[in-house]
Amino acid sequence: MYPVHFCRECGHEYHPVRLVTDGSTRTFLARDIDDAAPIRPEDEDDAADTADASGEVFGFLTPDAADAGFSFSDTEEDYPENWLDFDARENPRLKPHYKPARAREVRVASTGQVGSGIRGWFVPGKFRFCLRCGFTHTSAARDRTRLASLSAEGRSSATTILVGTALRWMHGDDSGLEAFTRKLLGFTDNRQDAAGTSSPPPSRPASSPISPPTDRRPRLRQRPAR
Ligand SMILES: [Zn+2]
Repeated sequence: MYPVHFCRECGHEYHPVRLVTDGSTRTFLARDIDDAAPIRPEDEDDAADTADASGEVFGFLTPDAADAGFSFSDTEEDYPENWLDFDARENPRLKPHYKPARAREVRVASTGQVGSGIRGWFVPGKFRFCLRCGFTHTSAARDRTRLASLSAEGRSSATTILVGTALRWMHGDDSGLEAFTRKLLGFTDNRQDAAGTSSPPPSRPASSPISPPTDRRPRLRQRPAR
């Protein structure tokens, strides 16, 4: 079982994994998204992660999606512009700094073993950009914040993504729906979840008091007593 997280822009899925090499066998093992390779002092946030002494590489695995919106094929144009250098003829080249973070095409079996099975991409290191929609993360936010999950604070965002996807389908050419029926009501049935997504997910220190954002306070408090 691999945990799954979603791009907050397009909903494409990513699995946090570590790639373990044992002799000639390479296997993707599940990891928690907060697990990270030990940080070496020279590593900056942007520096690409490479294999540590034990031969493990942390990163994200994503299946090569069947949807038409997924066109990533590891050409230079598929990478964010700030990852590229251009030569005199305007040909793009990946900056040396980002080469270790280049996506690797893999075939992976349901056991996690590399070599056969479904086609996918392994992106070493932190989650920096979405292979599907190209949304690029440049802030120092943690991967857990950059990607939405189906549990904890990401739930409302997942609702948003599901609703957004349903709306896009509804307005697509082949939905077969009359224009006036293309309506959808989406809500999240939990006040804490709603409050959690309207404020930035916790980068606040654990000791600071947690209060709901003002626009989510119970309505009663906003009415002056008569
Ligand atoms: Zn995306």
